[in-house]
Amino acid sequence: MVHMVGAGPGAPDLITMRGKELLSKADVIIYAGSLVNPQLLDYKKEECLVYDSARMTLEEVISVIEKAESEQKMTVRLHTGDPSLYGAIREQMDQLEARGISYEVCPGVSSLSGAASALKMEYTLPDVSQSVVITRMAGRTPVPEKESIASFASHGATMVIFLSTGMLKALSEELVKGGYLPETPAAIVYKATWEEEKTVICTVGTLKESAEKNNIKKTALIIVGNAVSQNAYQRSKLYDPDFTTEYRKGTGEPS
Ligand code: SAH
Repeated sequence: MVHMVGAGPGAPDLITMRGKELLSKADVIIYAGSLVNPQLLDYKKEECLVYDSARMTLEEVISVIEKAESEQKMTVRLHTGDPSLYGAIREQMDQLEARGISYEVCPGVSSLSGAASALKMEYTLPDVSQSVVITRMAGRTPVPEKESIASFASHGATMVIFLSTGMLKALSEELVKGGYLPETPAAIVYKATWEEEKTVICTVGTLKESAEKNNIKKTALIIVGNAVSQNAYQRSKLYDPDFTTEYRKGTGEPS
């Protein structure tokens, strides 16, 4: 059996209880050493075999899993954050399916959430934005043309941009091309929830300088939109005394 497990964004106690339990039972762990906090390996059994996938191809990962399966061993494939976001898990799952190897996925806390907590931010502020666009700049991995940063920027929604810290000048240009003003608030969150976490509040127009000033080159999320500044929003209906919900009668309703 193979478990694809979300490691969480960095802090070792932000893995799920299920993920931790699976790590403690695994005979083999293949972890993404480039981004997963190695402290998570403290949860493993002593005799567990550990591989760092940062140095491996998909074929090598699959062959380690195949060998473990032939010995009736349990493998944890440990992915950073939540495996469903930029985790390259589909291709692994397809390879496992083709070999009749069963697998399950255990979700994790994405850096999407880790960054919001670092900023003490709500992505979906009433009257500011009720949507979050999760995307990335096209780099060596292309992004479908219809999903350009500029086209998403035209919505003015909150945007959380992964995998793009090395392209901040071009990112600013695309955001402005799409309709964000250069003064629109933005944030850079480096290594959210790690001990070395850094948060930088800036604007769409100053992303590159702000990252440079703080020596941030990778492992960061860029958050863009008026929700970052949190100064112009409406109270939620959910907790409004006038508003009736399924669980609470509002004072604005006839009795
Ligand atoms: N599955 C992961 C994302 C993997 S892609 C998740 O759910 O978070 C790798 C990119 O995620 C990095 O380039 C960076 O943009 C972002 N990232 C991962 N961990 C991060 C963290 N702790 N803080 C900020 N960004 C992070």
